[in-house]
Amino acid sequence: MLELRPNCECCDKDLPAESREAMMCSFECTYCISCAETVLGGICPNCSGELVRRPVRPVAALIRNPASTKRVLKAEGCAPVKAA
Ligand SMILES: [Zn+2]
Ligand SMILES: [Zn+2]
Repeated sequence: MLELRPNCECCDKDLPAESREAMMCSFECTYCISCAETVLGGICPNCSGELVRRPVRPVAALIRNPASTKRVLKAEGCAPVKAA
């Protein structure tokens, strides 16, 4: 099950479970769409994985399986992945 992290790891923007602007990688490193596209170029800076839009969990499902409230933030901010 997805954690549904509550914020962008780069800029700390709020990304509630119903947000359609949340992007994540396969490890659930989570970013807002503007960081994902403009800063990161669609690649996770932690694992070099592909960033895709996080599916929205329906409200009824959130009652049984609430979203994470633990904020994850990169203290040093985000930089684009350098091409190898
Ligand atoms: Zn962001
Ligand atoms: Zn990642």
